[in-house]
Amino acid sequence: MANKKQVYINGSFVDSVEGTTSSVINPATEETIAEVPVCSEEDVNRAVEAAEKAFEIWGDTTPAERSLALLKLADVVERHTDELAALESLNVGKPIEAAKWEVGGFVDNLRYFAGAARTLQGSAAMEYIEGNTSMIRRDPVGIVGSIAPWNYPLMMAGWKIGPAIATGNTVVFKPSEITPLTTLRLAELSAEVLPPGVFNVITGYGPTVGASIVRHPKIAMVSLTGSVKAGQAVAKDAVDSLKRVHLELGGKAPVIVFDDADLDAVVETMRVAGFSNSGQDCTAATRLYVAEAIFDKLVSALVSSVRSIKIGDPMHLDTEMGPLVSKVHCERVAGFVDRAKSNSHVQVLTGGKASNGKGYYYPPTILVGTKQSDEIVQQEVFGPVITVMPFKTDEEAYKLANDSNYGLASSVWTTNVNRAMKATKILNYGTVWVNQHFMLISEMPHGGSKLSGYGKDLSIYSVEEYTQVKHAMIKFT
Ligand code: NAD
Repeated sequence: MANKKQVYINGSFVDSVEGTTSSVINPATEETIAEVPVCSEEDVNRAVEAAEKAFEIWGDTTPAERSLALLKLADVVERHTDELAALESLNVGKPIEAAKWEVGGFVDNLRYFAGAARTLQGSAAMEYIEGNTSMIRRDPVGIVGSIAPWNYPLMMAGWKIGPAIATGNTVVFKPSEITPLTTLRLAELSAEVLPPGVFNVITGYGPTVGASIVRHPKIAMVSLTGSVKAGQAVAKDAVDSLKRVHLELGGKAPVIVFDDADLDAVVETMRVAGFSNSGQDCTAATRLYVAEAIFDKLVSALVSSVRSIKIGDPMHLDTEMGPLVSKVHCERVAGFVDRAKSNSHVQVLTGGKASNGKGYYYPPTILVGTKQSDEIVQQEVFGPVITVMPFKTDEEAYKLANDSNYGLASSVWTTNVNRAMKATKILNYGTVWVNQHFMLISEMPHGGSKLSGYGKDLSIYSVEEYTQVKHAMIKFT
């Protein structure tokens, strides 16, 4: 069988208990590139056993030791940038240059978490009752179950294992069934620096092995990045054990363009924010609300810029956009656009139809004439599709932008400082960019509200979520 993979438990690669596999496909060619184990509850039990044993030692390491391990892991990954980027590109269909940038992002995230491990603080020790000293400890939660999506497989692994390992937890990790290859390679590379059992990787489907992770009584916390549907299932499955749940779910980012905005900057940024990673990004710019006075000018410039996006073989250095991740997903995106097109008020200005030929390619698509209540405006498409709608007043723009079940990210474009300040207060999203979109940094939190979930990734806020606060009180005489 071609390129048969194993799972990584207790520092070794082993077959799954049941031995069944699923195929991993290259979305640019539709060819099978690997077979990976479809794990079951028994594999989860094995991984938890290893993580539990490892926690006895890892939970007792000093912040300096954990920091050093993460720094070494970052170095090992950095040395393998080209290889990991090529593997990510092959499996996800992302342009090779973007994949390299993502490996760089992973490395930076890990180095940040390595630093954060040594600066984590409780509040000052003090006698709040005479003769009794109180102090705050931040202890690891124990075993963390991490479940990742397919759009940024390696980077999501960094967001999850970084804070978990930095704070002394051990991890049972499940990558997406569609894109497990870089995570399995990361596991192999981690063997050089992490003791057996600290980082375990099992593969398989969400509703089976994913749910077994969530239900396992010895897993203290589950961190999921994925769809709203998966988030809801995880929250329900976590009820019996009352484990801590961290959910990074979907998004439908609005973009408000006021009439005083720098239109060249808007167009240049939207070209990337709407279409890089083929629009398969939870913070992707998807709903543009543009001041009536500049609507036609902006739409025309945007359409012309977007039409020049180079689509093709992800391995070519000048490719800007590759295929969507899978046949099922390509059909899902096409379904959204086809349903939108069936409304007589909607016009397609560019794109709007899946490409012919090999690979799951869907072109950058811009729709106008949409109504706020349309499915395409309200639901996450997770593809290279944006809608552009006009607004008359600032109040209307804020109302339209906030009219969403999602609450992950948003942006506003203006040269007026009053508008900028007001937008950061009014927009009900985990991130509000001003004259920017898409930029995430290791030091700042990423996470949403409403159906986008709860919990923060990146930054000291995420590190804190992987610890439990403990009050210790010592009486003295
Ligand atoms: P998905 O929900 O299908 O799968 C995500 C992961 O959850 C996979 O590993 C899957 O196997 C697992 N899973 C699915 N059902 C499960 C269940 N019942 N129990 C346990 N695990 C389960 O999502 P996807 O299609 O891989 O990714 C796309 C989604 O992820 C989009 O909605 C996107 O917005 C979201 N996403 C969010 C962020 C963020 O930071 N908020 C980042 C990336 C992706």
